Amino acid sequence: GGATRDRLRIAIQKSGRLSEPARALLASCGLSWRESRDKLFCYGETLPVDLLLVRDDDIPGLLADGVCDYGIVGRNVLDEVGADRALRGQPQVSKAVRSLGFGGCRLDIAIPESTEWTGPAQLQGSRIATSYPSLLQQWLDAQGVQATIVNLSGSVEIAPRLGQADFICDLVSSGATLTANQLKPAVTLMTSEAVLAGPVTPFADVRGELASLLLRRLDGVLRLRD
Ligand code: ATP
Ligand code: ZN
Repeated sequence: GGATRDRLRIAIQKSGRLSEPARALLASCGLSWRESRDKLFCYGETLPVDLLLVRDDDIPGLLADGVCDYGIVGRNVLDEVGADRALRGQPQVSKAVRSLGFGGCRLDIAIPESTEWTGPAQLQGSRIATSYPSLLQQWLDAQGVQATIVNLSGSVEIAPRLGQADFICDLVSSGATLTANQLKPAVTLMTSEAVLAGPVTPFADVRGELASLLLRRLDGVLRLRD
């Protein structure tokens, strides 16, 4: 939604796992920028495509509010917001329009190393710590399992040792963090990678043509990378 604009604005992570690969990918699409003093905004020079550098968690909201037109974000973050909207009966405003091939990880339920995994029914009545409460709730509902979700914004992996939770549901790539906390992966809720997130409805102004130009270039770059 939002006002008419004649430039495209893409939100990317300011610093973190996705920031460098996101900028590199957009640069290979022929984009270049002039950075603002505070380095939060990059003004597009070769094309009217600007960047906003933000925390990844803010990207779905910036898209929903129409502040940004596209965002590069983990599918896990986008789908958590989507699951939250679905649980509230609200319509979706953003969707993944391309998978970008970096930032790969899984959202797993992990259990203490000493515990044997017998299946989802084992979670019945337990406390599960996560930063992805809506994705976890949806999955538990689908399994017909009732559990208490302990919503933590960080350091989820130490919750079992602190006695805050019995299990965790967290992002895993190598599994080293789990091992360091005497946990092991039990079941995967979703696999994730960085995606280009965009609006569910097309642009009604010149951004529509800019968007199709960008997507055409992006598809060319992604094809070469395969
Ligand atoms: P921000 O400061 O922007 O909030 P953050 O700490 O939430 O940063 P990062 O740790 O940089 O974010 O992770 C960004 C994304 O990278 C995740 O949402 C996920 O999609 C992906 N990712 C890939 N591997 C991992 C991993 N092992 N742990 C966490 N995220 C991972
Ligand atoms: Zn974050």
